[in-house]
Amino acid sequence: MRWGMLIDLKKCIGCHACTVACQQEHNLPFGERWNRVLRVGPVGEYPNLTSYFLPVPCMHCEDAPCVDGCPTGASRKRADGIVVVDELKCVGCKFCMVACPYGVRHYNEEKGIVEKCIMCFDRLDEGKAPRCVETCQLKARYIGDLDDPNSEIVQLIRKKSARPLHEELGTRPAVYYIFP
Ligand code: SF4
Ligand code: SF4
Repeated sequence: MRWGMLIDLKKCIGCHACTVACQQEHNLPFGERWNRVLRVGPVGEYPNLTSYFLPVPCMHCEDAPCVDGCPTGASRKRADGIVVVDELKCVGCKFCMVACPYGVRHYNEEKGIVEKCIMCFDRLDEGKAPRCVETCQLKARYIGDLDDPNSEIVQLIRKKSARPLHEELGTRPAVYYIFP
């Protein structure tokens, strides 16, 4: 079992509802966003230029540099592939922020620790979808088991030729994108 997410960039309209829902779900301080939605572009050849929106949560990398870079063991990978941060073990050294090539970790000034998207593992453990998946009215996000060849997410990844962001970094992300 390895939890994964698929985001269809052809459907995303950049409404930021997922960003706000995530902030509410995790009670984040003002300005801390575990799920940024970036605007990419213009891309392409003039005059056929286009732009699109790119939600960027933690990629829950199989080979996670943040886990390797954490000196206290606070950053760790669960058996289901979700990368989490143990608040009690985090000393706020920020080594993991330096190690993460996707820039998805945030320092929480109030708590003095580093935080990030945890794929709403508590909701998944209860059989519920992550808040961002549940909230997206455009159904741009999918959650499922990357180890199950018959799961909807694996079928869609194959059918739509979805791929991770910056696959060349070699961290083997669990988040895939259908690019426009
Ligand atoms: S809620 Fe859905 S459509 Fe809106 S920004 Fe997030 S992924 Fe895109
Ligand atoms: S995206 Fe960054 S924080 Fe998330 S697992 Fe990969 S290296 Fe760690």
